[in-house]
Amino acid sequence: MNNPPPTVADNMVVSLAYVLQLDDGNVIDSAGASEPLQYLQGANNIIPGLEKELYGMQIGDKKNVDVAPADGYGEYDPEAMTFVPMSAFPPDFELEDGMGLQMRDSNSGEVVIAYVEDIQTDGVVLNLNHPLAGQTLHFQVKVVDLRPATDEELAHGHIHDGHTH
Ligand code: ZN
Repeated sequence: MNNPPPTVADNMVVSLAYVLQLDDGNVIDSAGASEPLQYLQGANNIIPGLEKELYGMQIGDKKNVDVAPADGYGEYDPEAMTFVPMSAFPPDFELEDGMGLQMRDSNSGEVVIAYVEDIQTDGVVLNLNHPLAGQTLHFQVKVVDLRPATDEELAHGHIHDGHTH
């Protein structure tokens, strides 16, 4: 039997070492080969602009992938600001510029992170953009391991790394 080597494909669990840099060269995230990112290919576990470039790669393959904002964390939307009155915060709450606050979206019910943009006397302007919105992402990736997902992982749409849930 001469099986072809596994490749990155839908329903495969991919172990990925990576370095993520911005245009200015700053490394903002990384995972080494000994503790790679593990995710389920084809299940929107990672940003679409990266996922689509990984199809067909084999164990040991390396690649540089540039992801435009639209395929990453979105374009920066200057309108995505909301004003929250001080009375909405507990009296002893300590607000800081740039801090992230968990908020529940009143329309979708989803929990989103909003960032404190401006603290004013009567309230706070929150920025709803992802901190990486508007940024082009530069990934250097290496496929460390590949395995088929289990039926349970496929049913859940994510991997189970030694613990069930
Ligand atoms: Zn699960």
